[in-house]
Amino acid sequence: MTDFTVPKPENDPIQSYAPGTPERKELKATLDELKGKEIEIPIIIGGKEIKTGNTQKCIIPHNHKHVLAHFHQAGESEVKQAIEAAGEAWKSWSTTPFEERAKIFLKMGELAAGKWRQILNASTMLNMSKTVYQAEIDSACEVVDFFNFNPYYAQELNTFQPMHSPPPIKNTIEHRPLEGFVFAVSPFNFTSIGANLPTAPSLMGNVVLWKPASSAVFPAYYLMKLFQEAGIPDGVINFIPGPGSKVGPNVLPNTDLAGIHFTGSTAVFQSMWKTVGENIAGYATYPRIVGETGGKDFCVAHESADLDALVTCMVRGAFEYQGQKCSALSRAYIPSTIWPEIKERYVAEVKSIKMGDVEDFTNFMNAVIDKAAFDSIVNYIDYAKESSDAEFLTGGGYDTSVGYFIEPTTIITTNPHFKTMEEEIFGPVLTIYVYDPNEWQEILQLVDQTSIYALTGCVVSQDRKAIDDASQALTHAAGNFYINDKPTGAVVGQQPFGGSRASGTNDKAGSIWNLARWVSQRTIKENFDPPKDYRYPFMADE
Ligand code: NAD
Repeated sequence: MTDFTVPKPENDPIQSYAPGTPERKELKATLDELKGKEIEIPIIIGGKEIKTGNTQKCIIPHNHKHVLAHFHQAGESEVKQAIEAAGEAWKSWSTTPFEERAKIFLKMGELAAGKWRQILNASTMLNMSKTVYQAEIDSACEVVDFFNFNPYYAQELNTFQPMHSPPPIKNTIEHRPLEGFVFAVSPFNFTSIGANLPTAPSLMGNVVLWKPASSAVFPAYYLMKLFQEAGIPDGVINFIPGPGSKVGPNVLPNTDLAGIHFTGSTAVFQSMWKTVGENIAGYATYPRIVGETGGKDFCVAHESADLDALVTCMVRGAFEYQGQKCSALSRAYIPSTIWPEIKERYVAEVKSIKMGDVEDFTNFMNAVIDKAAFDSIVNYIDYAKESSDAEFLTGGGYDTSVGYFIEPTTIITTNPHFKTMEEEIFGPVLTIYVYDPNEWQEILQLVDQTSIYALTGCVVSQDRKAIDDASQALTHAAGNFYINDKPTGAVVGQQPFGGSRASGTNDKAGSIWNLARWVSQRTIKENFDPPKDYRYPFMADE
């Protein structure tokens, strides 16, 4: 043990990238550099680079002919090697003192905030089609925050100790890492989630197999290089990109699977949980299953809403990052009394949105991630075009000739259970239902009961009673509830993030509750004066 203490963290400040700033100059140079080459991305197991020859491309979604990299995909043999390498690393990592582990994560934070900042931002902008602002809050600030806040929360967790028994007894709780390995599986849409899923368990002394999403391997690879530079020992985090449907089934039934740290769609999470269930008798220990999944995030406006605040909430909530945030607003409930004015202001704002290349900083929107996402979103749009329940207020157009572009689309429906009010679309599509304000309580019930998800949602109102009504009626409808703010943009340490119902296990990424899932406590009672006679006083002769 050393006397090292993790300092109290502060959120990494968002840099502006305004014309003339040094960060803008450095970012532009890095974008040029990354675009100017085609790199090869290996699998990294036990610190060694492995090339299987079975490669896939990393492309630019807004210019899909441009190839940034080719990545090697893991198969059965690489999964086996990764499990072995993780098992080997477990022997020393699981007994490495917390302070030593924490120092590596703080170093990651320092690298992500400084030297690696623009590599993470530029690779995120290019491979995930994010504006500089969307990249900065994700691949810079949130990444840095996870690396600085998790060690601080882990330190707090370690201070939880049981009550003292009367002397001569001493009680302690030891926060042991799990016995086995953790399978971290990340989605395409946030570099920061890729940063958090493998590192939160490893901070707690666990070893990890990390499978990033195939459509966002490019920034994930740079993260892996950053972990290595910060000093994460070989085998503690093993980088195994590849198709989920191939990698998952090779990893999940393994007897040493001790945990799953997943973020992605509800369907994939449920299929993984099912596989674990089917194999439950074969595990050395019950796997901890932590998953944050889909959403159908809502905005319910009250008659008293500030109209400009409501419009901004709708535009930013629904269309930033092309609606590809799990928290993105995708269903809105607007009272008929304010609808005519909202409609006019909203349409004017949406029409002013510019969409295109991430390197044109005047663009607010870029492309959706890939062809599969494009097709799935377009299916919903085409379905609505055919339906008598739906009318288009904005957008509805799409074009895949250069990049996967879909216009910011707004559907008005008279059916509150219309398909696009209930299902996750994961694209720039907002559906609006206009309601009679006399039915405020009924509307709150409807919002609560419309979808299987419960991730994020917001109420927009200047009336305290209405805010309280919504807050109470929607207690279980969202794990992150916003009042007079858009339902996106949770910040580590400030709004711990996660949803319930079909949206996940709600273990709140970047918090003490999440970290607690990656340790298995051992309670130790030490008796300094143990009894030396089995007889109790009541047994004595009178
Ligand atoms: P996805 O479910 O398609 O993929 C997620 C990851 O799972 C990828 O790495 C994928 O390769 C992998 N995968 C797929 N099948 C697998 C299998 N059988 N075994 C193991 N791994 C498998 O999700 P996506 O398209 O990358 O991301 C979008 C989804 O993620 C949306 O539903 C969104 O709501 C959700 N999401 C949720 C949160 C949250 O915090 N709740 C955050 C971001 C994204």
